[in-house]
Amino acid sequence: MTEANSRELSDEIVIKIDKMHKWYGDFHVLKDINLNVKKGERIVVCGPSGSGKSTMIRCINRLEEHQQGSIIVNGTELTSDVKHIEEVRREVGMCFQHFNLFPHLTILENLTLAPMWVRKIPKAEAEATAMHYLERVKIPDQANKYPGQLSGGQQQRVAIARSLCMKPEVMLFDEPTSALDPEMIAEVLDVMVTLAEEGMTMICVTHEMGFAKKVADRVIFMDAGQIIEENNPEDFFERPENDRTKLFLSQIL
Ligand code: ADP
Ligand code: MG
Repeated sequence: MTEANSRELSDEIVIKIDKMHKWYGDFHVLKDINLNVKKGERIVVCGPSGSGKSTMIRCINRLEEHQQGSIIVNGTELTSDVKHIEEVRREVGMCFQHFNLFPHLTILENLTLAPMWVRKIPKAEAEATAMHYLERVKIPDQANKYPGQLSGGQQQRVAIARSLCMKPEVMLFDEPTSALDPEMIAEVLDVMVTLAEEGMTMICVTHEMGFAKKVADRVIFMDAGQIIEENNPEDFFERPENDRTKLFLSQIL
C-alpha cells in the first residue's frame, strides 16, 4: 500500500449515502451515489463542471432533496421530517464559493447571529466563541469591520469561522477558493489544512489538487452524476484507472 495520507480512522461512520438518486424535473442528476464517510475522514470530490458535485454536497444538508435511496448523517436519516433536517443541519457546516456574509452586519455580528438566534447562546458567550474562531482563521483584528472592507480571502475565512461557531461535526466545502484571486487561495487552503489536521471530518469539492494530495484520505471523481472512481490521492493521481478520470486529470494538472 502506498497511501500518502494513510492514518488510523475510527470505524464510526458520520455520513452514509446509499443508492441515492436525484432528479431535477426529468433530469436524472445523481445516479446511484454510494458513499460512507468515517469520523475524521477527509474526502476531496472533483470532476467536470455539471457532473453533480454541488448537488451531491447540497443533498447532505438537504439544501436539495433526493428522491431515492438514503442519506444518514450522524445517525439521523434525511427525510422530509423537518426535525431530522434541523438535526442534521446542526451537525453540518457548509462553506460555498460565494461567502454569503451579511453585508450590513460586522464580522463579529455575522459570526454571532446564528449561535444567538438559532442556538440561543448568550451574547457574551457567542462573542467569545466568535473571537476564538476569528483567531483560528487569523483575522481577529477584523472583527468590527464590515464584509465589504475585507479581501475575498479574508471574507472566505470569516465564512469558515462562521460555520465553526456552530461547532459542526462535519464540514462541507463547495469550491471555496474558486472565486478568489490567486494570491488569496493559499490563505484559505491553509485554514482548511489546519482544520483537517485537527481532525475535522470534511468533504471538499475542489480542484486544488495540491490540497487533495496533502490532506485527502480519499479522492472521488464524479462524472455525469455518478461516482466513477475513488482512491487514495497517490493512486488516484499517479494511476487513474478510468478513461474519463485520465482525461479530466490531463486537463487540470
Ligand atoms: P457541479 O457542481 O459538478 O458543476 P451541479 O451539481 O451544480 O454540478 O449541477 C449538475 C447538473 O444539474 C448540471 O447539469 C446543472 O445544470 C444541473 N442543475 C443544477 N442545479 C439545478 C437546478 N436547480 N435545476 C435544474 N438543473 C440543475
Ligand atoms: Mg458546483
